[in-house]
Amino acid sequence: MPANLSGETRTTCPYCGVGCGVLVQADGIGGIQVRGDPDHPANRGKLCSKGSALAETVGTDHRLLTPLRGGESVDWDSALDGVAERFQAAIAEHGPDSVAFYVAGQLLTEDYYVANKLMKGFIGSANIDTNSRLCMSSTVAGHKRAFGTDTVPGVYDDLDEAELVVLVGSNLAWCHPVLYQRVVAARDTRGTRIVTIDPRRTASCDGALHLPLEAGSDVALFNALLAEIDRQGLVDASFTDAHVAGLQDAVAAAHASDVSVTGLDAELLQEFLNLWIGTEKVVTIFSQGVNQSSSGTDKVNSILNCHLATGRIGKPGSGPFSVTGQVNAMGGREVGGLANMLACHLELENPEHRATVQDFWQSPVMATQPGLKAVDLFKAVGNGEIKALWVIHSNPAVTLPDADRVRDAIATCPFVVVSDITTRTDTAQLADVVLPAAAWGEKSGTVTNSERLISRQRAVLPAPGDARPDWWILAEVARRMGWSEAFAWESPAEIFAEYAALSGLAGELGKDFDISALGEVDAQQYDNLDPVRWPQSAKRQGGRFFAQGGFYHPDGKARMLALEPQAPANALDAARPFRLNTGRLRDQWHTMTRTALSPRLSAHLPEPFVDMNPQDVQRLELVPASLVQLSSPQGRAIMRLRQTSDVKPGNLFVPMHWTGMNAPAARIDALVAPVVDPVSGQPESKASTVSAQRFDATWYGFAMSTSAFTPSCDYWARARTSTGYRCEMAGLAIPDDWESHARVLFDLPDAAAQCMSDSRRGLHRVGFFEGDVLLAALYVGPEPVALMRDFLVGLPGQEAPWALAGLARGDRPDPGPVVCSCFAIGRNTIKLAIASEGLTSVDQIGASLSAGTNCGSCKSELASLLQECSGSDADGACSREANAAVARSA
Ligand code: SF4
Repeated sequence: MPANLSGETRTTCPYCGVGCGVLVQADGIGGIQVRGDPDHPANRGKLCSKGSALAETVGTDHRLLTPLRGGESVDWDSALDGVAERFQAAIAEHGPDSVAFYVAGQLLTEDYYVANKLMKGFIGSANIDTNSRLCMSSTVAGHKRAFGTDTVPGVYDDLDEAELVVLVGSNLAWCHPVLYQRVVAARDTRGTRIVTIDPRRTASCDGALHLPLEAGSDVALFNALLAEIDRQGLVDASFTDAHVAGLQDAVAAAHASDVSVTGLDAELLQEFLNLWIGTEKVVTIFSQGVNQSSSGTDKVNSILNCHLATGRIGKPGSGPFSVTGQVNAMGGREVGGLANMLACHLELENPEHRATVQDFWQSPVMATQPGLKAVDLFKAVGNGEIKALWVIHSNPAVTLPDADRVRDAIATCPFVVVSDITTRTDTAQLADVVLPAAAWGEKSGTVTNSERLISRQRAVLPAPGDARPDWWILAEVARRMGWSEAFAWESPAEIFAEYAALSGLAGELGKDFDISALGEVDAQQYDNLDPVRWPQSAKRQGGRFFAQGGFYHPDGKARMLALEPQAPANALDAARPFRLNTGRLRDQWHTMTRTALSPRLSAHLPEPFVDMNPQDVQRLELVPASLVQLSSPQGRAIMRLRQTSDVKPGNLFVPMHWTGMNAPAARIDALVAPVVDPVSGQPESKASTVSAQRFDATWYGFAMSTSAFTPSCDYWARARTSTGYRCEMAGLAIPDDWESHARVLFDLPDAAAQCMSDSRRGLHRVGFFEGDVLLAALYVGPEPVALMRDFLVGLPGQEAPWALAGLARGDRPDPGPVVCSCFAIGRNTIKLAIASEGLTSVDQIGASLSAGTNCGSCKSELASLLQECSGSDADGACSREANAAVARSA
């Protein structure tokens, strides 16, 4: 049902592939309250820190409210006519393959369906790809090779029943937090074992057996597992004889494979092999660490090989499980969002499938061959083959590998349209036309999560200004291109019904994606649609796949593949001795267009950083918390150095989120090589090779203000706070006069200033006040400035005439960096409680401070703090550090 008795609207979180149900209450003045939906099967009422902060990301401050052409507002008719004309002109002059759409896993299925229909069935090109290409296309390719279809066999309930959960290339604790909490609950209540396979020690290693394998060596590891399965005589012959082809060759290749390339300790490796082989109910979860590789598809198949050999697939508590990055990445796979697929798992290169879809759509022309995949698509933009490009809810100028080249390519494309909720993205800044799209909370449709569960997203707020749903924008352009009848829908319900009807034809052609039982839903039923797992047809409703075989290759058998491990495409050498791993943070989403609006989420890790092992820090004579410049043949980036043994020597980790809008020197994908998996076309985002060196700034600064400000120095990183904005800065050229510099920076030409300067030591502090109320402050030094930042950021807008001291006061101690976003509890506060109250467990911290008691996303960090404190208790270091903030301000 769309609403409950309290008048809350049931909808779905817009971020990750867990697909949590949320209950939203609009306050009538543009705001909302959000809580987890206790009746949604994906999350049962739980939300992570990002979902819990959704209310902080709505509003109109940042929104694009009218169509823009050449930076000027225009009405919808002019904008849509212009887009249609430019696409038509390009097609007329250069053919259908001269235009392209680049879309996103943030699109609703109905939006995706319209975009795909327009490009593949009416324009007649398959040049539509989705940013899910960067996320899980290796899984799609691996599934298709093994199963003959892109199908996730299992369901989330398997995590409750598994005895062993193996996480491969997945920091589930941060990237799919609600799912991870489910695994942890199974561990704590049923003794489920967790194994985490990752070159990096992550939050998902807490309480798990951690296998820190060498980057890219997953195939060698799972080949070792397959060889051991064979050696121990545990191949399930009754399953493989009936349902699997290719066993012998795969096993032979596994025996020939060299496991030493994993770099794993032999005893640790054997422990894992015994555990996996000796546990009947094993779920192997895999994600970007597997997919984002030049051999990502092989990695996926190496995992599937082991499950197929043992028949551990599609059974309660047992099976391989790909978790998707975005909320509707799975929906995009189903509806044909990838350049090499038709809708409903039909094949673009199959003439019968093409004819069926063309007949159903009554379309004038059909694409006959796969279109350009993301990396190739932007290469084609760069070399002038693409004359008109439409980017929808994505930010390829930041997120594609070799991002500087992609940014330049978009800038030189003759015609670029961007549909988005804001112009504040690197890509929208380059567009000729920007179209105001409805945001989450304003649009209506469906999404599919990682377990094939289709859920409704429902509008709870009116779209502001002229913003419109994506399906409407796409359909209006299609009508203007001459295809009124085929794009005549009045609502997403009508689109969904058409899509469901098409899936029935796919079902008749033997495809698994068949939701034809939903083809007759009317507007009311669509509005009331409860979460439902596909397939939904006369033959089959939901459930798991493949426990009894029934694969989708022509002979009904799955395929095991003979796999040879491949090293990452780029080898390390003296010039580039570091392996660069990129990934997500707990509290940010993609390029931060929404999560960076939340002060709570921004407080967790407010600045881009690079994690480096202490041995490398020492060898390069770097100083922790200084700035480091990373370089590759593609580009360079500057970020804060974090010294940590979580990464191995020779390895680096950098988060992927920062953009030209909030840290222009730290766009990490500018360094990533445009190397792709040859089968899936997915980029190798986790194994580039780079060099690292100190970035020798002449000065370093920390600034904060009640208002937004944009520095112009060599390095800056800006984040929201509860009182305004904070910003880390550094530069090479020293301003003549810091007060004048600060006035320009904060745009406060007339405000009263307080200045403290020690020019000999290069120390400068400038504050601007209205009476005693602090408006803005800048702290500058020749080294990274030591300040109680997490205390200071609460001061703008408050009476704080002493703010330039940079220290906390006795009545308001420095809480330290935020650990628990839900309750805004900082590291110092937690360590003080641990020390002073003798806390020894995460639950005790929760009882004392509430930290970790809402979404639970920070529990692994709380566990690390406990460990840190217990490790240092002998000399009282934890107590001393925790008390430092109070002592300093006394
Ligand atoms: Fe949203 Fe978090 Fe649930 Fe993912 S785990 S769907 S981000 S609430």
